[in-house]
Amino acid sequence: MPEETIFCPTCGEDTEHALVKAGQSNLMRCAECSTIHPVQAVRKRFANIRTVVNRGDTSVSCCINLQEDDHLKVGQELLVDDEAEGVMVTEISSLESNGRRLQQAQAKDVETIWARSVDRVELKVSVYKGGRTRSMKIPVAGSDSFEVGEVIDAGGTRFKVVKIKLRGEGFADLAEAKDIVRLWGREL
Ligand SMILES: [Zn+2]
Repeated sequence: MPEETIFCPTCGEDTEHALVKAGQSNLMRCAECSTIHPVQAVRKRFANIRTVVNRGDTSVSCCINLQEDDHLKVGQELLVDDEAEGVMVTEISSLESNGRRLQQAQAKDVETIWARSVDRVELKVSVYKGGRTRSMKIPVAGSDSFEVGEVIDAGGTRFKVVKIKLRGEGFADLAEAKDIVRLWGREL
């Protein structure tokens, strides 16, 4: 039984309390005077949620931090930042709460997020030619590598990669699509 030290109005001081009944207001029994009184449940700002990401044949289990009142919905995109796997672009496939599967829920009510890795990401590209810049989005695999100097054909446009900006800070000569914020190219 969870116990915590909270203020008892009967004793007039902080005492050990045991949870009698959980609800919007928890009913707590004071260990000193045995009085039962309602206590507003303390709101935590962040919820640490177990997340299982399915990646084809394998699945990766990790924990993500979300704000308690974040609204989660099946089909929604979710960025999962795992120490071992890096940032994964996923899509929520199911939300588990109290052994039930829900279509949508607030983060604080979710015990496990079931997600699938989205292998396609949209690479944002700016291509310039003769002082004009065009922006486009190219669907690629998240693990596709791009390198400064390489020539890319996309949507009828042929361009040479001149700069790659990373999702974190800074630029790189070589990066995977999922780590790229924007790629600049010079039209050929
Ligand atoms: Zn008491």
